[in-house]
This record gives sequence, structure tokens and C-alpha cells, in this order.
Amino acid sequence: MNRNIFMRFPGGRQKALTLSYDDGSFQDERLIGLMQKYGLRGTFNLNTGRLREEGSEPIKDDFFGMPTPLEALKRYSKDGLEVATHGVNHPYLDKLPAHMAAAEVLEDRAYLETLFERPVTGHAYPYGTYSAAVMEVLKTCQISYARTVRSTHSFTLPENWLEWNPTCHHNDETLFALADEFLTKLDTPFDRSPELFYLWGHSFEFDRDGNWHVIEAFAEKMGGRPSVWYCTNSEFYGYVRAFEGLVWSVDGRFVRNQSCMDVYLEANRNLYCVQAGSGVLLPVEMLQEDTQ
Ligand SMILES: [Zn+2]
Repeated sequence: MNRNIFMRFPGGRQKALTLSYDDGSFQDERLIGLMQKYGLRGTFNLNTGRLREEGSEPIKDDFFGMPTPLEALKRYSKDGLEVATHGVNHPYLDKLPAHMAAAEVLEDRAYLETLFERPVTGHAYPYGTYSAAVMEVLKTCQISYARTVRSTHSFTLPENWLEWNPTCHHNDETLFALADEFLTKLDTPFDRSPELFYLWGHSFEFDRDGNWHVIEAFAEKMGGRPSVWYCTNSEFYGYVRAFEGLVWSVDGRFVRNQSCMDVYLEANRNLYCVQAGSGVLLPVEMLQEDTQ
């Protein structure tokens, strides 16, 4: 019986890093520049009701400086980026009647989909507030994941995708200790669970707090590492769902991948790639118990 099966990320990696930044303020431009410089990928959660009218001039001295739709399209269409919903008007979703909460999410989603010409199924809770009723609304709206603001200070994967707790906010005093912990655990043979570092925040906070050096130091430290998979939120979600969708025989030797992406796994300390739409027969040694 194959008793030791662990998900691995694309290329066989054990670690993943994703970013999630909210509200779409103009400071996102500078953050995106840093992400691209260091090879980080991530998701930007937008309130389409706050976008400036096309052709209008930026509002003078506006601390947030929202883009027009076309400016948003240009900014967030770059490689390694994606957009997700954050409510049309940044509402407290848990305070709204269900149909109004649904409209906030669906209309934001539909607007972004029309603008970016792709399905947009991610969400970040405005103000971080939600309830069981809000999660039901998101399910009905076919939202696949929703990010909270509750730090786990860990690298565990979400148990409930509609309650996806991040590792920490960039102002967290343990940010660099967590980054060190995440990196130093790389490739140690006895830590075999896949791990995700999930960072969130608002880019306007770097201007407000005068701490752009924090995110630059983080990006420099975490970026460019061959052992880390850099992904957007929905890339991560889609990959994990593909892994979970693998069809296994009872004895764990035969596995079939019915998804459209290659999926990696470690079985008894060997790495396998199960290619999209194909199957793998693991060698008979897999039947031996891993006693290490
Ligand atoms: Zn927000």
C-alpha cells in the first residue's frame, strides 16, 4: 500500500508564495514594479464602483488615486498578475441582505470579467468581515476562494477556500522571522507537507507608513528562488484542485490526472509528474512501506 503521498507544486517544488493586495490604489504600480523585479506573482482585489470615469483626470491630492477601467486593464494585465472581486463599493458584506451582498459580488465580478476578458472567481472580504451567510452567497455566485484578514503565522493550506486565512500582513512584526522560517525549511527531507506563504496588504500603506523598504526587502529575500513556486491566488487554487481531483486506485499504484495541467506528487520519496489528461503507474517498490 502506498502510504506516503504528498502534493508537490509545479516542477516538483514543495513551497509556494502568493501575494494579495486590496483596493486598487495608484501605489499598486510601484508594488507591481517590485513584484516584477523580483519575480513575485499575485492577485489584486478591486472595487469596480470606485474606478474613475474613463477620460477623467486623476483627483488632485487623492491619497488612493483610483485608476480608470482602461488604466486598471493596463496595470493588472501584466504577466504574473490577476484581479479578483472586492465588492463593487467595498461594503461590509455581512451587514447586507443576501441579495444585496450577491449583487456587490456578482456585479464586481461581471465588470472585471468584461474588462479583462476572463472568468474572475476570486474574492477578498472588504474589511475582512464575513459570516456563514456571506459564504453561502459567495458559493451561489460561484466564487471559488475568498481571503480573510486573519493571519495564521503558518504555511498551511486552507481547509475552507471561502475562509482562506493568509500567513500574515506585511506590517506583521514577525514577517521576516516567518520568511526565514519558510526559507530555511526548504528541502529538508522530513518536512514533506507542501507549504504556502501568503502575504496580504494594501499598497497605499507603504506610502502612509513610509515603509516601502519592507516590501522591497521581503521581495528581494523571497524572490528568484528555484525551489519556490510563485503564483497568483487562482493559480494556486486551480493547481490544488487539480491535485485533489487525481483519481487513484485503492493500492495507490495507478493514478490518473483528468485536469488540463500537469500535477506533481511525491510518493515514498520519489517525485512523479502526472501529465495533464494522462495516467501514471507507480513502480512496484511503491508497495513497500516507507520506514524512514
Ligand atoms: Zn479593501
